[in-house]
Amino acid sequence: MKTIVIGGGAAGLIAAYFSAKKGDKTILIEKNEKLGKKIYITGKGRCNVTNLCEPQDFLNSVVNNARFLSGAIYGFTPRDMMDLLEENGLPLKVERGNRVFPVSDKSSDVIKTLANMCKFAGVEVLLNQTVEGITAADGKVCGVKTDLGDYTCDKVIVATGGVSYALTGSTGDGYTFAKALGHKIIPPVQALAPMKIKGDYPARLAGLSLKNVTLNVTYQGKLVSSEFGEMLFTHQGVSGPIVLTTTSKINRLDKKDLSLAIDFKPALDEKTLDNRLIREFSAQSARAIKNVLDQLLPMSLIPVVIERTGIAPDKKAGEISRAERQSIIRVLKGFTLDLESFAPFSEAIVTAGGVSVKEVNPKTMESKLIKGLYFAGEVLDVDAYTGGFNLQIAFATGARAGS
Ligand SMILES: Cc1cc2nc3c(=O)[nH]c(=O)nc-3n(C[C@H](O)[C@H](O)[C@H](O)COP(=O)(O)OP(=O)(O)OC[C@H]3O[C@@H](n4cnc5c(N)ncnc54)[C@H](O)[C@@H]3O)c2cc1C
Repeated sequence: MKTIVIGGGAAGLIAAYFSAKKGDKTILIEKNEKLGKKIYITGKGRCNVTNLCEPQDFLNSVVNNARFLSGAIYGFTPRDMMDLLEENGLPLKVERGNRVFPVSDKSSDVIKTLANMCKFAGVEVLLNQTVEGITAADGKVCGVKTDLGDYTCDKVIVATGGVSYALTGSTGDGYTFAKALGHKIIPPVQALAPMKIKGDYPARLAGLSLKNVTLNVTYQGKLVSSEFGEMLFTHQGVSGPIVLTTTSKINRLDKKDLSLAIDFKPALDEKTLDNRLIREFSAQSARAIKNVLDQLLPMSLIPVVIERTGIAPDKKAGEISRAERQSIIRVLKGFTLDLESFAPFSEAIVTAGGVSVKEVNPKTMESKLIKGLYFAGEVLDVDAYTGGFNLQIAFATGARAGS
């Protein structure tokens, strides 16, 4: 049997390794000059390689098509991936939130390990070569065409990734190949992406980092996302963990029906917050309101919050009326953000959408339409939250396809 793996990212490397291990002649074709360009930038250069949690908890962190992934994740668990890397000489450590990193904190060590595993398993790696199409006859794969030549084979594993961070090589070629062979492509959308926000607030607040806040989103008046944790303002909008997660949850909803609001004080209900304001305002009654709110808010937020309430910034705290207090509470508990768009794919950590999983056998990752055609990794319509889940999806589906 001869197998060609297209793409030398996380999914392709593991797929090629398992394919060669079981005895298939395996060729891995990568268009870049080196393997694993995207792995290199993962986890801020440290590579959060997987998440050491139970398979069911893992599947709860999958946004799209957890059911499809279930067999792959139970069949090749985060623990299995860790064992494989450690057996091949890469020591790992587990950090907060079960996030797994190499002890060296170097993503390049993960790439080296995966590349060595392929080498010792007998994978032939062809770099600087771009696959341009997959050939099939009578409903069965028979080869691939590249910019440098034609190859015949019995099986092809498409592991070309999504369309995020295209500079790493993920330019959506796999969608074109799959479509040409009759596969349905779920339109790709940005996932785990920052958001662009209308108005001058982002620019005024750029660099401000918030902890222990909640970002709430309603769609047509119904709460569809409520994420608690850290976020930050950028020059164009907002980013940070809870923003990225929120994007993944709402990226398919019509933007015009979405309302976003930050609760700066999620731990305090309105009554408790009101009592707190009454105490602060009476203790500092002679001071301007703009100088009193520093007990509650970071400095750079105060002018923006006061502006939203319509209260004069120099008004004395002791003169603030009940109605004005209520408007302060409304802004503190629901600071609205006017969503312009999600950041482009070049800034989205992953791509949601891709090859429809309905036409892929979850037990093998083989196409249900073309014999010998397999898919692995982000090219599929699967995505998850941050924490090592997306790489593990690439590894687990790669392991299935390769095996
Ligand atoms: C900045 C950033 C940080 C991230 N951090 C993490 C993290 O810490 N943990 C985590 O779990 N996930 C993280 N992710 C997500 C994770 O990196 C991806 O989900 C994962 O790498 C997808 O692997 P893949 O093999 O499916 O695709 P890719 O890694 O995109 O690999 C696809 C490969 O195919 C090659 N290719 C494409 N088309 C062709 C062609 N026509 N011919 C030949 N080769 C081709 C590409 O050059 C590329 O090398 C991060 C993503 C980004 C962008």
